[in-house]
Amino acid sequence: MSLATDLVTDRKIVQPRKAVLEMPEYHPPLAGRDALRLDFNENTFAPSPRVVEKLQALTAEGLTKYPEREPVERVVATHFGLKTEEVLLTNGVDEAIHLMCVAFLEADDEALIATPTFFMYDVSIKMMTPHLRKVQADATMEFPFERFMSAITDKTKLIIVASPNNPTGATVSKEHLLAIAAAAPHAVLMVDEAYYHFHGESILEDLSTVPNVIVARTFSKAYGLASLRVGLLAGNAALLKSLRKVSSPYNVNGVALACLPVAVADEEYLSWYTEQVRIGRQRMMDGLRELGVPFFPSHANFVLMNIGPKHAALVGAMRRQGVLLRDRSTDPGCDGFVRITIGIEEHVTRGLDALKTSLQEIEWSAAV
Ligand SMILES: *Cc1c(COP(=O)(O)O)cnc(C)c1O
Repeated sequence: MSLATDLVTDRKIVQPRKAVLEMPEYHPPLAGRDALRLDFNENTFAPSPRVVEKLQALTAEGLTKYPEREPVERVVATHFGLKTEEVLLTNGVDEAIHLMCVAFLEADDEALIATPTFFMYDVSIKMMTPHLRKVQADATMEFPFERFMSAITDKTKLIIVASPNNPTGATVSKEHLLAIAAAAPHAVLMVDEAYYHFHGESILEDLSTVPNVIVARTFSKAYGLASLRVGLLAGNAALLKSLRKVSSPYNVNGVALACLPVAVADEEYLSWYTEQVRIGRQRMMDGLRELGVPFFPSHANFVLMNIGPKHAALVGAMRRQGVLLRDRSTDPGCDGFVRITIGIEEHVTRGLDALKTSLQEIEWSAAV
């Protein structure tokens, strides 16, 4: 194998592990987002006003301290009806996925996911093992349960399922999740519940009876804290012990830790925002039906539309209207698909208005 060369100095450059050379890269298109952001499934408005108050009360001296994660884990665990040793706070679910892969995957283990789904699973899994099995959804974009079950082997060590899934908005029923966990007792099943609040069904309350399930929750979506980077892993204390071992003790910053208890305590804010999204999602789906735009029924804070060959033209036209959408065309089986985030009422209205104008401008019709 030849070593790569630094072209300027003609020096040999040290190579990373083979797995790192071969893993895919994730470049979220985050530049130039000074518009109505309906592209990243964030909360489109603001977090709880109590979080803002908390931020304003932070002191300069407080910033000099190393953050203490454990006391906040105690608060959060109690809030979710769990023991402290059954939870781990992480630097967003992105880090949670990474820790799961680092803790559980040997290079000859297999990991299993259903596609299309959140791209970070692919990135973090490939960092550890080349043996990633992907089960592709059919044209309905529903979770391919039967084929997924058949893809479990005795080498399967980590299974990741998002419910509701991104970018499809489809869910996996609790019965199906429990069946997957039971069919793979030699593997860990991570259920990514990033969009739980917009759906309402969780496997969190079953954790005590299924020792090989870990639930991930993010505070980036419904709670509106994407910039603070905080997520949660919950499950069997023995599994969590290994995850804690591979995480940095300071993985969650002090600002996030200060804000988290007030964010979870403000249930009134959370139900208000969640309700805004549920109403807005119905309005969006009704609006799309009227416009004749095919879409996939969603249980999350976004809707995946099938625009067809004019997908890029639509995203461009919407951008000129000041509204950002996410083109999902390069996702497996998603050619022509575009995703729109659902936010508060006013933002859904602006999104729908801009859609009507843009579809006209690009002379879109369902036939193409
Ligand atoms: C947005 C998203 C995440 C990322 O959450 P962070 O906590 O911001 O890292 C995780 N999983 C899914 C399915 C997502 O869509």
